[in-house]
Amino acid sequence: MSTRNEQLFERAQRSIPGGVNSPVRAFRSVGGTPRFFTRGQGSRLWDADGAEYIDYVGSWGPAIVGHAHPEVIRAVQEAAVGGLSFGAPTEAEILMAETLCARVPSIEQVRLVSSGTEATMSAIRLARGFTGRDAIVKFEGCYHGHADSLLVKAGSGALTFGNPSSGGVPDDFAKHTLVLDYNDVQQLEDCFRNHGDRIACVIVEPVVGNMNLIVPSREFIDAMRALCTKHGAVLIFDEVMTGFRVGPVGAQGLFGITPDLTTLGKVIGGGMPVGAFGGRRDIMSAIAPLGAVYQAGTLSGNPVAVAAGLKTLELINAPGFHDRLAARTKQFCDGLVAAAKEAGVTFSAQSVGGMFGLYFRDGCPASYAEVMQSDRERFNRFFHAMLDAGVYLAPSAFEAGFVSGAHSEDDVAQTVAKARSAFARVCA
Ligand code: PMP
Repeated sequence: MSTRNEQLFERAQRSIPGGVNSPVRAFRSVGGTPRFFTRGQGSRLWDADGAEYIDYVGSWGPAIVGHAHPEVIRAVQEAAVGGLSFGAPTEAEILMAETLCARVPSIEQVRLVSSGTEATMSAIRLARGFTGRDAIVKFEGCYHGHADSLLVKAGSGALTFGNPSSGGVPDDFAKHTLVLDYNDVQQLEDCFRNHGDRIACVIVEPVVGNMNLIVPSREFIDAMRALCTKHGAVLIFDEVMTGFRVGPVGAQGLFGITPDLTTLGKVIGGGMPVGAFGGRRDIMSAIAPLGAVYQAGTLSGNPVAVAAGLKTLELINAPGFHDRLAARTKQFCDGLVAAAKEAGVTFSAQSVGGMFGLYFRDGCPASYAEVMQSDRERFNRFFHAMLDAGVYLAPSAFEAGFVSGAHSEDDVAQTVAKARSAFARVCA
């Protein structure tokens, strides 16, 4: 007899391509049936068959205070009663903009959108409009949403013009995207030496969470800042994932670097659709209605979404929130590393704030090439062993994971105990 999850997946595939509204959800790389969730509370999720999971995906980052936090839910309910959308200004949007400007010093002005994709797409257009240049630099393995010019990855890893890595992206678009290797300072310098006068911007995940977790070297981060300044290119930190997640001021706060533009999403919506891009006032002034770069949105600054985001930002501003989150996340990684060692499994893990990477390889990777050396088959077996034991990890070996403020010491201890037996089975 099939389970309710299986029945739902079969039904979903009849009316939705692949049965999902975003590809990774389909469990394609790990195999098996996606879980259809009915409810979340704190660190826990429940699926359609009534199974309970400790959740380490957190809706891919937004659920930083845990699922269905009572204060966030109340804020959403109160906002909803007042009307769902006006397509006109509200005071809550100003509060949100003021909060972002106050917490992130590099942001002098900010505009709200409804997703991370919109934020990065708009920031790129703005950088191009502001500089009057076409080329953009991105790094292989970094994900910045699904806009055309960003769905391009490197061919050989050498400095080349990009090839489309998604169907439907014209070569004429992709040729403006220069794809380099993350953490390769020499390549970046060469790229600016050869193409500096036509580079509009460098867009980067300042801690990568989209090819598993990769930490930038100090030299790499410093070189990006220095080269963009020298050549008049806009440095865009895509902090859609890292913003308010790796620390109270995101990755730029951790590294003490001031980007020209920052993109945000996930946490600032607290689970509702909110994105933002902001930064230097002179650059932001190039946006309509002040400037010539067009950007707009029917639901931008939506009052219900903004209410969820504002309450979430208030909750994580409590003293010590990020220190506790970072300590809990580290407890999780240290516990898993110890459990793997006991079981004799080649494994490593690391965390930055409330974000972590798990790798079935020796040592934490520092590049796309090193990430690719991890043992995917072993990850898949581990993933399913943990899923069966009631732990929901990202269904891919190449995604970062997330801990929330609702994860207790006991949640993590239980997870580590489950991992100990999962590693033993993975090894067998
Ligand atoms: N940038 C980064 C760094 C992301 O991690 C993501 C989503 N995972 C995006 C942009 C796109 O955001 P969204 O899915 O909200 O469009």
